[in-house]
Amino acid sequence: MSLHGAYDPNNIFAKILRDEIPSVRVWEDDHVLAFMDVFPQSEGHVLIIAKQSKARNLLEVEPEVLARMTAALQRTAKAVEKALRPEGLAVMQFNGDAGGQTVFHLHFHIVPRWADREMKGHGHAPMADAATLRALADRIAAELD
Ligand code: 5GP
Repeated sequence: MSLHGAYDPNNIFAKILRDEIPSVRVWEDDHVLAFMDVFPQSEGHVLIIAKQSKARNLLEVEPEVLARMTAALQRTAKAVEKALRPEGLAVMQFNGDAGGQTVFHLHFHIVPRWADREMKGHGHAPMADAATLRALADRIAAELD
């Protein structure tokens, strides 16, 4: 899918927001949701999405929604750092097929990094089991300010 086009209300994150498919939620408020990536590129890979916006990518998002998302991104990244003590944090965001995007509902990735652990490739990581993700999500949520 290109950078331009219509929002698909049946994309996988829209279904997660409507609880039509399961997800492991870290935290949420009326505007944003932080949840575990089911194909984590490293332990503790979290995704941040907005609940109401129909933006598919960074170019389309309303500035006030982006502000809420980046505040949520920082809040979650701080909790990830406290919970898992990574040595680094990669924050990623992809736009359009050619930009590496695979789900067309705007999202940010938080990927904890350790110098001696390789990060799995984007779109090439195995599926994690729900219990493992739930335990990680609980540890992260416990460190939210
Ligand atoms: P993108 O490639 O669009 O930047 O990122 C989409 C992300 O969504 C990928 O990291 C992928 O692992 C993740 N993902 C794909 N399907 C699901 C799903 O059903 N549940 C969850 N929690 N994450 C998913």
